[in-house]
Amino acid sequence: MENRGRIRQLPPQLVNQIAAGEIIERPASVVKELVENSLDARARQVEIDIEAGGKRLIRVRDDGEGMGPLDLTISVQRHATSKIHSLDDLERIASLGFRGEALPSIASVSRLRMTSRSGDAEHGWRLDLTGTPEQVLEPVPAPHPTGTTIEIRDLFYNTPARRKFLRAERTEFRHVNELVRRLAMARPDVAVTLRHNQKEVLQLPSAADMTQQERRLAELLGRGFLEHALRLDAEATGLSLRGWIGLPTYARGQADMQYLYVNGRMVRDRLAGHALRRAFEDVLFKDRHAAYVLYLDIAPEEVDVNVHPTKHEVRFRESRLVYDFLFSRVHDALAEVRPDREEWRPTVHSHGSTSHGRAHHGHPPAPSPRPASGAQGGLQLPVAEARALYGREGEGTEAPPAGHAPGRFTALPDVAGDGPQPAEDATGAPPLGHALAQLHGVYVLAQNESGLVLVDMHAAHERIVYERLKAQLRRDGVQSQPLLVPIKVMVTPAEAELAEARQDLFRQLGMEVDRAGPDMLLVRQVPVLLQGTDVERLVRDVLGELNLHGKSGRIEEAVNHVLATMGCHGSVRAHRRLTVPEMDALLREMERTPHIGQCNHGRPTWTQLAMDELDGLFLRGQ
Ligand code: ADP
Ligand code: MG
Repeated sequence: MENRGRIRQLPPQLVNQIAAGEIIERPASVVKELVENSLDARARQVEIDIEAGGKRLIRVRDDGEGMGPLDLTISVQRHATSKIHSLDDLERIASLGFRGEALPSIASVSRLRMTSRSGDAEHGWRLDLTGTPEQVLEPVPAPHPTGTTIEIRDLFYNTPARRKFLRAERTEFRHVNELVRRLAMARPDVAVTLRHNQKEVLQLPSAADMTQQERRLAELLGRGFLEHALRLDAEATGLSLRGWIGLPTYARGQADMQYLYVNGRMVRDRLAGHALRRAFEDVLFKDRHAAYVLYLDIAPEEVDVNVHPTKHEVRFRESRLVYDFLFSRVHDALAEVRPDREEWRPTVHSHGSTSHGRAHHGHPPAPSPRPASGAQGGLQLPVAEARALYGREGEGTEAPPAGHAPGRFTALPDVAGDGPQPAEDATGAPPLGHALAQLHGVYVLAQNESGLVLVDMHAAHERIVYERLKAQLRRDGVQSQPLLVPIKVMVTPAEAELAEARQDLFRQLGMEVDRAGPDMLLVRQVPVLLQGTDVERLVRDVLGELNLHGKSGRIEEAVNHVLATMGCHGSVRAHRRLTVPEMDALLREMERTPHIGQCNHGRPTWTQLAMDELDGLFLRGQ
């Protein structure tokens, strides 16, 4: 009977260290927890000091509500929080923290000192924790203004296994820096200072209005982003989406400029990420990534943040609604980037610099990601390079090159005839103006009210053909064709069941998919446009998406990709001589085409040189 059993309750210190394993990965995670606490305490100003990448010291000082001596002692107890009291509170969280485990976890793997003074107290109090389990917690009086300072020294000094995983000082600081920038974007109203080894790295005053907010954003992401971004401000019942989306001309090679905040919390959410990717897909090259800074606000009870200890993930109760809202607002905003809308009308006002290349408002032409060429902006593109891009030198400007479907372009005017009338402004002048001439078979020059319009005729026509093909598809539906030999696709039993249950959906998309065994599907019919593509992978992707959020855009995506390729081949090549009426027809067609700002590959299709910019080129004062 002396056996007390093998199962033991763990000592609190060890419990805290286990929790620390989940939420405290590196110095940056400590900074995140501390700054979030400061924000929850309604701080207006947060100062962060880092030494040796955070390995030696992390100090966060705020001017928030502060804590009295009793709260100081309790704050480092496990599951002690002032932010929620009941399950009810848990289901509508408005604060960043609520689990009450950050301070005890951090205290269990470092040496921690807290000094704090609450608003109504005579003086501040200090509490030192050394990480020893039997320590008595006894705050002592200490001077401090209203607010809190928390100092963490020697992170992981007592957990060598963790310490080993810390990287070089520079690397750890890079993580801290990135994190502080993300937090600073979440709360532009809070002033933020960051120092590393006593050197100031960031100094952001609090931003009250939109101009100051944009200034902060420019500081954090660089000027370029804002110059190539659209501002978004959308509301729907219970949902709001504000922020900036980078234009396709600002697409990036990595997904490293995607900031999404849900109720002020930075999240990496698969559902939201996917909705945004889809929204950009029409205007981006396959391997390019959108840039955005977006703030989604939603009633707290509509989103569950208690999904993961680090709270990076959220779950939306009405996920379909959120998905559609994100997708449609961003998609529509991008579709509006076209010349016949007021906000995209070239402005006559100067933007200051007159040297070159600055285009009409919010839609600068350069530098554009011209693939396979070192060329700079559209305006500086040397003709030789343009030729290299579009065709061989010597391809006559007199006649269309053989095999390039010469009928295509001249077909434009009659298609234009059955469309809506081109948008005209009050004076009756079309936004893209009237054609003047063609330059080296590559550019169309036109004159509009503000000055000179330059159109890359191939890029523009490519977009027109693509949009037309898409419209046709919407009108006539997906044409599909039985396969001579059905394609076998091996899947998991769960996926096979899913495919069986959603056969109707596959059929709608022009695919016939049968279950042929517990983990086997047979594809018997595919859309005509997709014959010859990797059907197996397509089916798997579709199932993966159906699994994730109940619907799939994969087939549509694949069809659009094929259409884009067709658009590219079907459109007019450079070096075709066009008559003035043909050029005018192109301009009018552009004015009524969605997404006309960019070709299918994200390159700009047109740009504006305003009169004052031209004047600037000739040092003509105004
Ligand atoms: P949580 O943030 O989940 O509540 P923490 O362990 O991070 O848990 O903090 C515990 C408690 O300590 C908080 O609920 C809060 O009351 C208090 N606290 C922590 N940091 C601060 C601060 N900078 N200012 C005021 N109170 C703080
Ligand atoms: Mg906290």
